[in-house]
Amino acid sequence: MKLENDPLAAFWMPFTANRAFKQQPRLLASAKGMHFTSVDGRQILDGTAGLWCCNAGHCRSSIIEAIRKTAGELDFAPTFQLAHPLPFELASRIAAIMPDRLNRIFFTNSGSESVDTALKIALAYHRSRGEGARTRLIGRERGYHGVGFGGISVGGIGGNRRQFGSLLTGADHLPHTHDLAANAFSRGQPAKGAHLADDLERIVALHGADTIAAVIVEPLAGSTGVLVPPQGYLERLREICTKHGIVLIFDEVITAYGRLGGATAAEVLGVTPDIITMAKGLTNAAVPMGAVAVRDEIHDTIVNGAPDGIELFHGYTYSGHPLAAAAALATLDLYRDEGLFQRAADLSPYWKDAVHSLRGKRHVIDVRNLGIVAGIELEPRPGAPTKRAMELFHKAFDSGLLVRVTGDIIALSPPLILEKAHIDEMVGRIGDLLEAVD
Ligand code: PLP
Repeated sequence: MKLENDPLAAFWMPFTANRAFKQQPRLLASAKGMHFTSVDGRQILDGTAGLWCCNAGHCRSSIIEAIRKTAGELDFAPTFQLAHPLPFELASRIAAIMPDRLNRIFFTNSGSESVDTALKIALAYHRSRGEGARTRLIGRERGYHGVGFGGISVGGIGGNRRQFGSLLTGADHLPHTHDLAANAFSRGQPAKGAHLADDLERIVALHGADTIAAVIVEPLAGSTGVLVPPQGYLERLREICTKHGIVLIFDEVITAYGRLGGATAAEVLGVTPDIITMAKGLTNAAVPMGAVAVRDEIHDTIVNGAPDGIELFHGYTYSGHPLAAAAALATLDLYRDEGLFQRAADLSPYWKDAVHSLRGKRHVIDVRNLGIVAGIELEPRPGAPTKRAMELFHKAFDSGLLVRVTGDIIALSPPLILEKAHIDEMVGRIGDLLEAVD
């Protein structure tokens, strides 16, 4: 029997309560600038840049034009043993805004693929150095690194792991850094928690440094509710990784491209990892694309140390796809020409004051911020965790505001073209909605 009587039945939606959604769908028809328009013609202020993606706002004409032009000239060209000019140009542009020495760029199609690529590069690097026993990968509780088997193995979200068997062997996890008792209502980086990085020494003592390939963390954890790194924490992780020869990977899929007020969180927070993963804001999400920026020495060790022929047995059919590369180049032009990273930095004090004005509102047990990101944590409804925030999400959407909720936390990450009036509207609306949900 086919499904033609139910037009919503065939699409098995990702990370969605499919049955509930299909009872009560929320469908978007178009987008422009700071707003979506729903299929029933309502304007919805985008408090989430889609899904932490559209940092330059929606449907930017220069990006659309670049995609259109390239689609007419070169719809596809493989990049296995053959190539076209766009990914070379793009890689140079990305390398120019990455931290010092992270100059080698590998292209993927998503954040998940970037994470798996970064983990594989770390493993291959140690093997090329004659330390092939370094195979353990260390992530962190509450970390989100996409949905590949590598990403869920180092990821620290139980729900994302439970259905999928034994995952990668040899993964271990640092403790997360969320500590409401010590840090609730911190403005910017919380004061307490640098010591949590020292747990890496415990893991090293347990397994032996010579078995550990890499540590991967989100410099600011987004998906589990905006966990801002405590002051000194990333510095300490960097020190311990350097001391033990462990590759440090920052997963910057949501933080790269302006979100924190600079090209990368590494730049803004002043800590340089060995590898950075990215996606989302790279193309303003107009075409899927991810990338991995790798320290020269790691690249050189793998590439120069290999015998003749292919040096890294890894890649995707669509690595450096012409449409994605064209979209990314146009996006980088927009970021530069409109100074959007600096704009985020300049607006962040206003943003911080605005979101912290929600302190004292009904249900609010924490507000946290960094750059143009905020997390507003609600007291869970007794016996029904997550329901209160989900109800707020629905009411916000119905009233014309898109927020993201994760557990009992509202996460805000609007496009960086926003004006102060948009901030006022978002925060005012959330304040009203907090009164409206029980
Ligand atoms: N890593 C981080 C830090 C993310 O936030 C995400 C997605 O939100 C991913 C990886 C996965 O990206 P994608 O959904 O493009 O595979």
